[in-house]
Amino acid sequence: MNDERMDRILLGPGPSDCHPDVLRAMASPLLGHLDPAFLAIMNETRERLRALFQTRHSLTLAMSGTGSAGMETLMVNALEPGDKIVVGINGLFGERMADVAARTGAEVIPVRAPWGRILEPEQVRDVLRAHRRVKALAVVHAETSTGVWQPLEDLSRLAREHEALFLVDAVTSLGGVPVQVDDFGVDGCYSGTQKCLGAPPGLSPVTLSPRFEEVLSKRRTKVQSWYLDLTMIRQYWGEERFYHHTAPVTMVYALHAALGLILEEGLERVFRRHLLNGRALQAGLEAMGLKLFAQEGHRLPQLTAVWVPEGVRDEEVRGRLLREYGIEIGGGLGEVKGRIWRLGLMGHSSRRRNVMLLLAALEQILGEAGHPVERGAACAAAEEVYQKSASPDDR
Ligand SMILES: *Cc1c(COP(=O)(O)O)cnc(C)c1O
Repeated sequence: MNDERMDRILLGPGPSDCHPDVLRAMASPLLGHLDPAFLAIMNETRERLRALFQTRHSLTLAMSGTGSAGMETLMVNALEPGDKIVVGINGLFGERMADVAARTGAEVIPVRAPWGRILEPEQVRDVLRAHRRVKALAVVHAETSTGVWQPLEDLSRLAREHEALFLVDAVTSLGGVPVQVDDFGVDGCYSGTQKCLGAPPGLSPVTLSPRFEEVLSKRRTKVQSWYLDLTMIRQYWGEERFYHHTAPVTMVYALHAALGLILEEGLERVFRRHLLNGRALQAGLEAMGLKLFAQEGHRLPQLTAVWVPEGVRDEEVRGRLLREYGIEIGGGLGEVKGRIWRLGLMGHSSRRRNVMLLLAALEQILGEAGHPVERGAACAAAEEVYQKSASPDDR
């Protein structure tokens, strides 16, 4: 396993690099999933998740499974056949939410925006007004397929006005940009461990408001999925400790350690680090003559989508980055497959050294591929962003 081919720098849309402390935590001996020592780690993990989600919701836990399991958890627990849900679709993950929601037997009402653009509150308002008794409004906070950062405040207010639950995909936002669940009035929110949390894929943190819990307690039908049924799972994470399924013990160690590192660094500093590195990378890409894909003013710092320049072959560049520099970046999905790259600076991967290395490598490869570049301009532009930042400990 110590082969050079296995030593990568993960700068794609996830998974991202893990801090060595997280990997070390995973090497700890197993505990039984009802051992008081393990339950103490679970309780602490739960407290740490609340801190990260900036919430007091009592129903906060980590579902077994990747980010998509969190998505499905919200849908199957909130929805019953015949319910109506409005889903924002401006990228691949919005599409997936609509697909998952429709499988519950609910009626999905899509609100669409072009890939690379945000959903405008007016569109959502018009759709909510046009339908009676909408049970939920669901949107993606950080659309990893496009790099768009969706504002939540107005949408949350609209959901409340229409007495709909406000559901948010925070898979790529949690740990990278603020996810203020209580302040934003989010009723259901899920994330994943392998993006900005900096742990391996395998758990999906979820938090539900008392309003969501009320919906859960008033269900007429059983939750369609036995495995994701929160009416049972909350009794394992709660005082009762009822056995439901075996907790993925090692993954909980990893999440516990990853959250510990984030809180130790401090949320403000973590967000500032992501913002600074993302802005430096984006400045460097533009200095190279590349065009950013996402709408200006709504670009995520932790995931940058950029157009593949004219005359350059997508796979050749990604292949060379991987073979010659050990760097993984992501390609485009769906309608922009082969046309954009997705560069991630998430969690432990969000570091100045990675920004500079990626820019230097891209400059070299693109120059050789026939894209006109001014040597050194990209790194200089990124450096300027770092120089302008107030605090030296951001580096
Ligand atoms: C990655 C991702 C998911 C899916 O997570 P998996 O861990 O791949 O199941 C869902 N939503 C968004 C926005 C994502 O970036």
